[in-house]
Amino acid sequence: MLLAGIDIGGTKVEVVLIEMISGGSEKLKLPTGELRKYQILERERIETHRDQGYESILERTCNFLKSLLSKNSKSMESLESLGIGLPGTVNPQTNEFLLGNTNSFAGQNIIKDFKAQLGSSVKVYIENDANCFALAEHYSGAGLSYADECQVPLSSLSTLGVILGTGCGGGYICQGNLLRGAHGGGSEIGHMVLVNSGRSCYCGKKGCAENYVSGTGFEKTYQEIAVSSETLDGPEIFEQAKKGNVSAKKTIEVYKSHLAEFLGNVATVLDPHLIVLGGGLSEEDEVYVGLKEAVQDNTFLKLDSFAIKKAEKGGSAGVLGAAFLGLSN
Ligand SMILES: [Zn+2]
Repeated sequence: MLLAGIDIGGTKVEVVLIEMISGGSEKLKLPTGELRKYQILERERIETHRDQGYESILERTCNFLKSLLSKNSKSMESLESLGIGLPGTVNPQTNEFLLGNTNSFAGQNIIKDFKAQLGSSVKVYIENDANCFALAEHYSGAGLSYADECQVPLSSLSTLGVILGTGCGGGYICQGNLLRGAHGGGSEIGHMVLVNSGRSCYCGKKGCAENYVSGTGFEKTYQEIAVSSETLDGPEIFEQAKKGNVSAKKTIEVYKSHLAEFLGNVATVLDPHLIVLGGGLSEEDEVYVGLKEAVQDNTFLKLDSFAIKKAEKGGSAGVLGAAFLGLSN
């Protein structure tokens, strides 16, 4: 069974082709399946060029998918489904893109347009990119490993996926079911207020968690603490801290405090078994030091029977989850 996934990000569009390996495709149907065996045939990226608008992104992405299929001697007809991860909220009833950081997608009939551009009647699914991340990590990454570790069925596990990247997105799989809510905005956790009257957010509010726990927020915190216009990126700030830079060390301390409060608030509402962190900042080992205890302190129940893990699929999780959408519908 051949699946295609597309992850449309603010700067890159990633495309993956996956061959599922299984005794029978019915075993792969979510939410009861486990995705252990598959082969990635292709995983490639192109620039999004967000400024060129929707039509241009659509055309270039479809041409890129076609070229990857033909490179692998696969036809469009051999494709079981195409899943597309989008950087924003997707209404599951209407498939409408409601709000996000690539606003040229708002109001477009994305599924119809992709089919027309591909000249195919292939099944196309769209979903919020953080939900795709959570699906991939739950069914084939950190969630699956954790279920094995605890010797519990994956279908009984609840996994919260949190992306700490350019922005902050969340996806929640509650015992096999993706939490979408009434309009698809069910786990837009990055836009919960963390700091009263804090930094202005693109969504129109002030103090949203995204502006503090994302990579962009982390860099902003450094500028404020160092009272500097100098721009250091995330890895540079961690590097400076190791060298003893006081502002960098303070930035990490403040960041971890914000992150613990944020994850503690979310865990108080959702009560996950497992929190999986993805995105650039999740790569820093220092982020995890003392984090679980600090999150626990910020929850209502204060239980220690939950885990925080780094994403196992790394940068591929989003696009893999997009490809898996065809199995969950
Ligand atoms: Zn916001």
